[in-house]
Amino acid sequence: MEQTFIMIKPDGVQRGLVGEIISRFEKKGFYLKGLKMMNVDRSFAQTHYADLSAKPFFPGLVEYIISGPVVAMVWEGKNVVVTGRKIIGATNPSDASPGTIRGDYAIVMGRNVIHGSDSIESARKEIALWFPEGIAQWQSNLHPWIYE
Ligand code: UDP
Ligand code: MG
Repeated sequence: MEQTFIMIKPDGVQRGLVGEIISRFEKKGFYLKGLKMMNVDRSFAQTHYADLSAKPFFPGLVEYIISGPVVAMVWEGKNVVVTGRKIIGATNPSDASPGTIRGDYAIVMGRNVIHGSDSIESARKEIALWFPEGIAQWQSNLHPWIYE
């Protein structure tokens, strides 16, 4: 089944949003397959955001991501990449709808609480980068209550 990489950024951790964010993905019916809290160093953050290295906000973005621990997760489910992005909301919290994580909990782009992979291909790359040790193997007993 499809998987995505979700990361609670340092502001989300500091603001005590870890439980709330995990809850939203859990209650939707997605399965948590990987979870860890970690501090990332500058070169790791630069690798994660390599596609944005030419952008003017890149140095600030890297400083933001290394400013404290993050919570890295792998979530699994049908269409989890696209649906995960909908749960997260628009990059700019000013454009993010109420009911989305960024719409409910963030105000500016440089403190927008959470990251989610933008495609199946990025998800594959990001999961390999963040979870080189692999992820948990389990199947939820709720499966027939979530999928027909
Ligand atoms: N970002 C920013 N200023 C911008 C655009 C993006 O600070 O003008 C930050 C923001 O935290 C965003 C991250 O860079 O989440 C990665 O940008 P991307 O375009 O990939 O947005 P996302 O996929 O996170 O919605
Ligand atoms: Mg992105």
